[in-house]
Amino acid sequence: MLHMLALLAAALMTPDEALKKLMDGNSHFVNNTNTHRTLMEECKDTHLEGQTPFAAIVGCSDSRAPPEILFDTGIGELFIVRDAGNVIGPIELDSVGYAVTVLKAPLIVVLGHQNCGAVKAALQGKQASDVIPAIYPLIKGALKTCQKKGVDPLKEATECNVRKGVEMLKKAPHLAPLIAQKKLQVVGAYYEIATGKVSFLPN
Ligand SMILES: [Zn+2]
Repeated sequence: MLHMLALLAAALMTPDEALKKLMDGNSHFVNNTNTHRTLMEECKDTHLEGQTPFAAIVGCSDSRAPPEILFDTGIGELFIVRDAGNVIGPIELDSVGYAVTVLKAPLIVVLGHQNCGAVKAALQGKQASDVIPAIYPLIKGALKTCQKKGVDPLKEATECNVRKGVEMLKKAPHLAPLIAQKKLQVVGAYYEIATGKVSFLPN
């Protein structure tokens, strides 16, 4: 019964409630108080018949940036797409679109992170076009919008890349009406490996 209530709660969450749940979860991670310790039980007891994730994440494939752990979430809570550089192409767009339109997730987060190798490579240019030829032009395009004012060019570039992803998702024809109806929020975030902290970027 408790499990059913948890599922129902996830399905009825507003975008703001979903965002708060992620922030609270990240606070657990930062303070080393993660709560999801019985994942096998969650899997078989609660989520066999279906899923009601409360957020979709487009994150980087980097092994140091696993969203379920950073946000202290269990099985069935996050719908995640990961690729090097957390870029948005047709496959990522379809995937998060499915999470939102079919599974009714009220929140999408584009999650960049400290010391992102894909963004670093794109900043350096030529070599990246050999190693990540499909991803490179997407990050390069995002970097054209960077303002380059601060002291940490890689962090700025990573945030530019995140903002570009957010912008693309907000404009997507199947997502824009849901945002206008306040049924969906799309936000960018930056994960700092050194502290564990995820900061949500201002809209
Ligand atoms: Zn990365």
